[in-house]
Amino acid sequence: MAYFDNNATTSISENALEVYRRALAEDWHNPSSPYRSSARIRAGMELEREELAKDLGLKKEEIIFTSGATEANNGVFAHFATQANAGLCCLVSPFEHPSILEPARYWFKDKIRYLPIDQEGRVVLDSIEKLLSENNICFVSLMAANNETGVLQPWKELAEICLSKGVFFHCDATQWIGKLPSDGFDLCSSFSVSAHKFSGPKGVGWFACKEPISMQLGGEQEMSKRGGTENYPAIISMLTAWKDVRFQLNSPTNRTEWRDQFEKSLINLIPAVKILGLNSPRLWNTSMFVLPDFENLSWVGKLDKLGFSVSTGSACSTGKAGHSGIAQSMGLSTSEVRRLIRVSSYWEHGESDWVHLLSAFEQVSKELHKEASYSSVISF
Ligand code: PMP
Repeated sequence: MAYFDNNATTSISENALEVYRRALAEDWHNPSSPYRSSARIRAGMELEREELAKDLGLKKEEIIFTSGATEANNGVFAHFATQANAGLCCLVSPFEHPSILEPARYWFKDKIRYLPIDQEGRVVLDSIEKLLSENNICFVSLMAANNETGVLQPWKELAEICLSKGVFFHCDATQWIGKLPSDGFDLCSSFSVSAHKFSGPKGVGWFACKEPISMQLGGEQEMSKRGGTENYPAIISMLTAWKDVRFQLNSPTNRTEWRDQFEKSLINLIPAVKILGLNSPRLWNTSMFVLPDFENLSWVGKLDKLGFSVSTGSACSTGKAGHSGIAQSMGLSTSEVRRLIRVSSYWEHGESDWVHLLSAFEQVSKELHKEASYSSVISF
């Protein structure tokens, strides 16, 4: 498998695709309609919701199906807008996904406070009690795993602190769910998830919330918390993908070692490469690094020709130099941002895929240096 951009999106699994196709063809009725075909769909959806809630240690009523994480993240901030109007503050990390940071700026304006981070791009909780007590914080939001570097954040510890202080804690769990065990999310006041990060379809996810937050007005669907006809085929397909992936989450694996070996070999090959979050616990599938030479798009283009899809950062920041949230938070220069590459594997990758990826980097490195030496001869 040469697709190494799974933090941007994963391909839909065969099972999820089959269920999706069948439901599109057969179970297309509106789940809210008053006849049997709809009642059957409604009952199926509620059974699935119950099973999912059980997996996550939640109550069935605490799960709302959404169009994905962007909607859920926006919805939770919109809910807290009244608190912003009352002069209260929110506390977020500086490298949250734009679907957190932009609503935070929109609703809270100068009432945003930022969590401190270390040089690995990980939130530091040393001064959290002080931050919470001195800033009139009504709402805290921290992602579980960073989408760019894969660095795991201390979200469980922060959830516990917020719980003990009675402060609402939201976790953007988009990159964690489907890659690591889901225990502990019941500590969060709310969390958001996206199906296309774990081999489900795009445009569907869930928002789990302990409080009766209305995310979307204009309909009584989803217990009146999120108006709009439920996308049953996408929901059932997502939950098929979830059931398939959840069994893998606890299985012993040396996936981290394959990624680490790739990084060690990359350092041997290109000693000046800078790996972000190298000394932090990270998602087993992710590696993000600054290469010392040549713009990232030159690497990406040549790797693509060799059959390897890698990215220059998060899909949301691609093409916008300087817009990588983590790069900005970690103080990378504009020139470093232009040399950033992210590779992200998935469950189907084996050790040999990482080895082949390394060989591709080796070949591209040679080609780029050769071309650079030609062009310097020509310009001489
Ligand atoms: N949060 C994070 C951390 C993400 O990586 C993404 C997807 N890039 C999102 C939120 C948005 O998810 P969705 O595509 O479901 O709106």
